[in-house]
Amino acid sequence: MHAMQLRRPGEPLIHTQMPDPEPGRGEVRLRVSACGVCRTDLHVVDGELPDPKLPVIPGHEIVGKIDAVGTGVEALRIGIRVGVPWLGSTCGVCAYCARDQENLCDRPLFTGYTRDGGYATHVVADARFVFPLPPDGDDVATAPLLCAGLIGWRSLVMAGDGKHLGIFGFGAAGHIIAQVARWQGRSVYAFTRKGDVEAQALATSLGAEWAGGSEEQPPAPLDAAIIFAPVGDLVPLALRAVRKGGRVVCAGIHMSDIPSFPYRILWEERQLLSVANLTRGDGIEFFKVAAQAGIRTHTSVFPLREANEVLAKLRAGQITGAAVLQP
Ligand SMILES: [Zn+2]
Ligand SMILES: [Zn+2]
Repeated sequence: MHAMQLRRPGEPLIHTQMPDPEPGRGEVRLRVSACGVCRTDLHVVDGELPDPKLPVIPGHEIVGKIDAVGTGVEALRIGIRVGVPWLGSTCGVCAYCARDQENLCDRPLFTGYTRDGGYATHVVADARFVFPLPPDGDDVATAPLLCAGLIGWRSLVMAGDGKHLGIFGFGAAGHIIAQVARWQGRSVYAFTRKGDVEAQALATSLGAEWAGGSEEQPPAPLDAAIIFAPVGDLVPLALRAVRKGGRVVCAGIHMSDIPSFPYRILWEERQLLSVANLTRGDGIEFFKVAAQAGIRTHTSVFPLREANEVLAKLRAGQITGAAVLQP
């Protein structure tokens, strides 16, 4: 196999060849067809998340076909098309696993962070945590659903069912969740970096009521806002944009520090929440919704070997929609 491997955080990924990994008990191996590039990959590569496995192969929006099956795997066979998400495995016995909150497991493994991910030709995954996909879908278009879609969906559910929804940071997750929200009959207000006309045009083309810079006030008070951009400064801006009793959901795994803000913008029963990871239940639910809502992802495709350049573009805000790598 070959892969783009992170040896030390803060350094570029290195193209590496190595023997094909063998699936162990309960695992499957995929031949990777497409792997989306998530903001979290950038946090791993930049060393903003603690204790990665090193070296590690990033990537947790993986689509491919199973080409080897370990012992003890009943449900999956060679040739099945599957997706591999961020949640790589859980312990199954901690208090969180026991109460149906496996996203908060005390001893989880995460794909492309604490186990190897999909910036590669092959990846091994725990068979219990992969999602079987329809045999004939578009692999590139599907890849961003595996995290941007899935964790976006969890964030949307946590935002409640208010009609006026703000989305701060209109990238991979934002453009998917805007489509789900429109399909649910909500009005979407897209907040982007100041002057990011491409992201604003994408938002409008997907049915957003309004698109503007994060500092701007939306034309109507929001019932809820989801913050996808890893920018703490957006928290007080989002709180100011939501109505009494409204919610602000922070969807990312990492955010720059949140500046202090006056209590009065939180008061009146506004709520500030965060989302962590996903459960397998979120995935099953979201793939149904995505099919019904007819989600169309806007992707830019790059060869696997250009992973470093793609991460640099994502860091600089130069990707519109979602970036996807293909080996
Ligand atoms: Zn657990
Ligand atoms: Zn992700």
